[in-house]
Amino acid sequence: MSMLNKKTVEDIDVAGKKVLVRCDFNVPFNEDGSIADPKRIVEALPTIKYLIANNAKVILCSHLGRPKGEFNPKYSLAPVAEYLTKALGQEVKMAADVVGESAQTLAAGLKDGEVMLLENVRFHKEETKNAPEFSEKLASLAEIYVNDAFGTAHRAQCSTEGVAHYLPAVSGYLIQKEISIMGGALADPKRPFVAILGGAKVSDKIGVINNLIDKVDTLIIGGGMAYTFYKAEGHTVGSSLVEEDKLELADQIFKKAQAKGVKFLLPIDNRIGDRFASDAKFDVAPKGEIPDGWMGLDIGPETEQLYADAISNAGTVVWNGPMGVTEWDQYAQGTIAVAKAVAESGAVSIIGGGDSAAAIEKLGFADKMTHISTGGGASLEFLEGKELPGIAALQDKE
Ligand code: AMP
Repeated sequence: MSMLNKKTVEDIDVAGKKVLVRCDFNVPFNEDGSIADPKRIVEALPTIKYLIANNAKVILCSHLGRPKGEFNPKYSLAPVAEYLTKALGQEVKMAADVVGESAQTLAAGLKDGEVMLLENVRFHKEETKNAPEFSEKLASLAEIYVNDAFGTAHRAQCSTEGVAHYLPAVSGYLIQKEISIMGGALADPKRPFVAILGGAKVSDKIGVINNLIDKVDTLIIGGGMAYTFYKAEGHTVGSSLVEEDKLELADQIFKKAQAKGVKFLLPIDNRIGDRFASDAKFDVAPKGEIPDGWMGLDIGPETEQLYADAISNAGTVVWNGPMGVTEWDQYAQGTIAVAKAVAESGAVSIIGGGDSAAAIEKLGFADKMTHISTGGGASLEFLEGKELPGIAALQDKE
């Protein structure tokens, strides 16, 4: 795949050059304005440190939240500059704007090995439209462009894609790590290769199912999407989440799995509730026996065992989407059991970003996994086999 053959920061001479680095500093904040989880900043440090050590003049940029194309102090990246200053042990100068006078003056005055951070690129409405004039303005601040924002690599925007048309453009270490681990697993997986897909809807995961079904030995289904498959098989589902317009698709997936010899596992029992609520009345029901008025909210205990057995000898596990409503303790058990099984399997384990990563982190299994992607949408599109525009725009290795 061409995305695996991109130049990196090590393939270009950065000494004395102004280098614009697109990072994903879109971190969550606490009520008091402090950074709630710095994971994404920490993941960007290897590239920044490499550039400092190799005497580049480093100009960092990122988006934060959705400020709707205008300046809004609530979405300022200033707290990230403060965090970086501590993490790097050297000052990270904060620009007051993105491409305005402040940014230009600071960039022009940078010395080798110094670092600055532009304001939130989404303070300009052109950013998300991938408008060439804004890409050109961003590019004019620097001589080299590095994309290390895996989390936004599936979006073609000025700072993630457009700017690559105006400067020599290469990838950073985080993007390299993400695509080499995920791409490696897809291209040459250690077998058995087990995919675990959960979350709310089949429609969100259909691309991933279609791509992975050609590659995996076992496909494990959990979460809300299991019930569309139940219904397609003719089972009663009570008031479980069902996508009526995806029943035929579910049927095609059954047939495809069968034709390819892929072991396709659905829950054999379910933790159910009489409402969609954290304190719903609780029960367990086997497949085909979810009563009227009740809904499946997690896989059941027997399914935990079935899935754990299927995972125990895996060589590679790719997991996207929780097995149940992990936000509520009484429906988090299935995801916990599967996370334990993955941790104990010794398999190369790759967790898609977004909700899956959040669930794994909240449940305390983050350090047991080989790789937790920093990109929700981006990892999903990568697993769908799509080309990510922010990576496609970078220079190929010769
Ligand atoms: P996704 O973003 O597709 O990975 O889906 C994650 C969401 O799916 C989480 O917010 C879960 O609460 C939700 N979810 C998981 N299982 C179920 C279920 N059985 N019924 C409804 N929602 C579910």
